[in-house]
This record gives sequence, structure tokens and C-alpha cells, in this order.
Amino acid sequence: MTEKFESLNPATGDVVGTYPIHDEADVAAAVARAREAAVWWSTLSFAGRREYLDKWNAVITRRVMQLANVSHEETGKPHGDAQLEIMIAIDHIAWAGSHAEKVLGPKKVSSGLLMANQAATVEYRPLGVVGVIGPWNYPVLTPMGSIAYALAAGNAVVFKPSEFSPGVGTWLADAWTEIAPEHPVLQVITGLGATGAALCKAGVNKLAFTGSTATGKKVMAACAETLTPVVIEAGGKDSIIVDSDADVPAAADAALWGAMSNAGQTCIGMERAYVHERVYDQFIRELKAKAKAVELSAEPGGLVGPITMPSQLKVIASHIADAAARGGTFVLGGPNSVGDRYVQPTIITDVPEDSIAITEETFGPTLTVKKVSSMDEAVELTNATRYGLGASIFAKERGMELARRVRSGMASVNSVMAFAGVPSLPFGGVGDSGFGRIHGADGLREFTYAKAITRQRMKPLLAAMTFERTAKTEKAAAQLMTVLRGRATTMPKFKK
Ligand code: NAD
Repeated sequence: MTEKFESLNPATGDVVGTYPIHDEADVAAAVARAREAAVWWSTLSFAGRREYLDKWNAVITRRVMQLANVSHEETGKPHGDAQLEIMIAIDHIAWAGSHAEKVLGPKKVSSGLLMANQAATVEYRPLGVVGVIGPWNYPVLTPMGSIAYALAAGNAVVFKPSEFSPGVGTWLADAWTEIAPEHPVLQVITGLGATGAALCKAGVNKLAFTGSTATGKKVMAACAETLTPVVIEAGGKDSIIVDSDADVPAAADAALWGAMSNAGQTCIGMERAYVHERVYDQFIRELKAKAKAVELSAEPGGLVGPITMPSQLKVIASHIADAAARGGTFVLGGPNSVGDRYVQPTIITDVPEDSIAITEETFGPTLTVKKVSSMDEAVELTNATRYGLGASIFAKERGMELARRVRSGMASVNSVMAFAGVPSLPFGGVGDSGFGRIHGADGLREFTYAKAITRQRMKPLLAAMTFERTAKTEKAAAQLMTVLRGRATTMPKFKK
């Protein structure tokens, strides 16, 4: 008999649902079904696939409140946040479906001088079956960055949602089954880490992982056994940088929302703030005043819900304790901010840069704030992390310059996390935040392989790629190259 596990409501501990723990054989069977479905799916035109994606998206859109409720119950996030997340995901599905042909379809490219007799074409072909392993913190949006783009590119998907949000994953796959019952192009498998590990070994053509850096390393190691390519969307330790000419109330608002929304359980959430000394006091005042309104409760009206994963409470507590022990000053909250299920929003200043509250991902509603004397210092401290996911910069003059200097895959100038909602922008990180991209044109190409084709249009002027090549041809080719490429003005001059 198949073993089961329970999904619990983190606010109450109530059982939300019971789901099967799929084992290796179940996962292999799902991948085999997907492989067959992928053959059908890949033969559809881009327009044909778009039609299905639009139908699926319409089901999600019409029942957004139902899906938001499952997400609310499983993760504890406020209804409004769950709804906003799904809205952004809906936009991504629509973008992926409507842009796939333009991004991936055949394109003529220049064939160069030597191969001028050839017509050259590049196109992006689907890989086959893509395995998607997702986290629980944005249980719709984060996996959707892989699922929608992989589907639009012509692949079938086997999705393993987090054990903390199996209901959301199942809901999405059920919605697909409703619109294409005979074609399991999107399937869900549920279970704990072992089910994810089985998916890595099941012979999928690519594995898209979103989750912690530690698990990402395990996924990559497992996939290396079969040379299965991976996308790794892992953790972050993003900062908000506030320059002296910034709109300080707006920066404080963004810092607060970026740090505390979703109870701080956001990969691209703000965990550190570096604020120019000229506006530091004002920033702290604004932050304090705005933070008073942030209520702890998963119920309607509450802005900050419980911590979804009980084991994370210990991590958050250890970061707060280290900051306190190392001389940190609490602007909001205190050493006892961590409760049984909820964490009081906590803002700490004067935390040494080598405290674990600064060096490691906290994944809770906390923010450290440091006064800096220049933007060079802000950038240097921001970049002194092994992560490199996103960043937020508040500045009038130097916003774009600072955004470019931060070592991260993404940045928002004068807003926070905005890039995640722009479907045409690639999403992903550097360093311990992972590699590969979801969203946008890069996100579509991520789930394909490039296919290069030449078609000979006429005989070559110089028949060089044949055993019938003559010495005359070789000489002519050398002369041609000298004329074409041998005229660099910076030729080294040798002394006699
Ligand atoms: P996690 O690493 O604990 O789990 C992620 C998924 O991996 C789950 O589905 C889990 O069952 C599965 N898993 C566990 N062990 C596995 C194994 N050995 N092989 C294969 N799969 C396995 O992460 P989490 O707690 O669910 O999510 C939080 C983390 O995700 C944070 O670090 C956060 O920053 C990160 N995250 C990153 C992004 C991004 O886009 N970069 C987005 C959201 C969350």
C-alpha cells in the first residue's frame, strides 16, 4: 500500500490534506507517461500549444480564490498575498505561451563570408520531459517559472511540489487534466525529499530545481550521474541600498514590505539594508513608524502569517540571538521575537558583518540595517556574500549605475522585487543562488536545445571541404583570408 503524508496548516497545526508518498517506481511510471505525452505535445504547433496553455490559464484565473485558499491553508500566507502571487503566475503563463514561437521558432542567421553559399538557420527544440522540483514559499509562482516556460517550449513536465504545499501542486496538475484529460503533459508526484531524489534519477531530460542551496547541491550531484542538465534557483541574502538622494519614505516602505511580507520567506526578500549616513536617521524613523502597522496573523486583515516550516523557527532564532550577542540594537522586536508558530517582525542595527544574521539566509521577517558613508561601501558590503540573487536600490541619480555594480542576477531601482513580475525579464542568480534562468526569452530557451542547420544554396566558390581540394584552392583560400582578416592596424612590429 502506498504510504501517505499530511500537509498541515502552519497557523493551527490542522491537517489540510493527505497525499501519497510516491516512490521510485511511481516516479518512473510518471516519467514514462510524460515521455509519451511529450511526443504528442512536441508535434503541436506553437499556436496549438498556446491554445492549451490559455485554456489552463483560464481555469486558474476563474478559480483564483480557490487556489489562493489552498495556498493560504498550506503556507499560512495571507489570502491577499496568495492571490497576488497567482496573478503574477497567470501573467507568466500568458507570456510564455504567446512568446514561444517568436523566441524559439526558426530564424535565419548570417552564414559568414566563408560559408556564403549556405543558408543558416537556428531554432530551439524541446528537450522532452522536464522534472520540476519546487519549494513551498511561493508554491504557485516559483515552480510556474519552470513549468509554464518548459510547457510552452514543447516539453512535458513532471512536477514534485514541496511536502509543505502538495495541495497547490496537485490543484495545478488537476486543472491541466481538466483541459487535456488524454494527455498527461503536466503531472504531479508528491512526497518528501526522497521523491525529489527519485525524479533526479528517473531519466528526465532536464531538472529544474527551486529550493535551498544545500538541496540544490544534492540535486546537481544526483543529476551528474546521468549527465542530466539542471537549473538551480536557490537561496539569497538580498539587500536594499538607500542613497542620500533617495525618496526615504518610499525606501522604508519597500524595505519593510520586502523584508516582512510572506513572513520574510522570500528568496528575493530583503534581509539587509545599507543606508547612506545622511538619510540613515530618517530611514530608521520611517521604518519604525510604518512597522507598527504590520500585524501578525494569518487571518483576514493580518499582514504577516506564521512560519510555514517549523524547523525554520530555530534558524531564525539563532540568527537573532547571534545578532543580539554581537551587540545588535533592536529597532523592532527583540531577542524573544520567535514564538511557537509566528515570528514578530524584527529590525536590528549595529550587527557585525560577520554575524550569521548577515552571512546566512535567515528566511524570516527580519532586517538588519547598517549606516554606510558612501555607496561604494554599500555595494562592497552587499557583494560580500556567497549569494547573488536580487537587490533593490533607492537613489535618484545613481540608481542604474549601482544596480549594475551589485553582483546579482536581478535588481530593482526605486522599487522592490519588481523584476519578478515582469515576464520578459530573466529570473535567476549567481554564486550560491544558483544558475540558469527562468522567465523571459532566456527562460524559454532554458528548456530547449539549440538546433543549427545549414542548407547549401549553391556550390562554394572555393571547394575546400572535400578531398578533391587542389593546391590552387588552398592558395586562393589563404589569399582570401589575408585580404579579409589580415589587415588589422595593430599588427605587432618585430625588431630586426
Ligand atoms: P528545500 O531545499 O528544503 O526543498 C525544495 C524541494 O526539494 C522540496 O520539494 C523538497 O522535497 C525537495 N528535496 C529535498 N531533498 C531533496 C533531494 N535530496 N533531492 C531532490 N529533491 C529534494 O527548500 P524549501 O525549504 O522548500 O524552500 C526554501 C528555499 O528555497 C530557500 O532557500 C529559498 O531562498 C529558496 N527559493 C529560491 C527561489 C529562487 O527562485 N531562487 C525561489 C523560492 C525559494
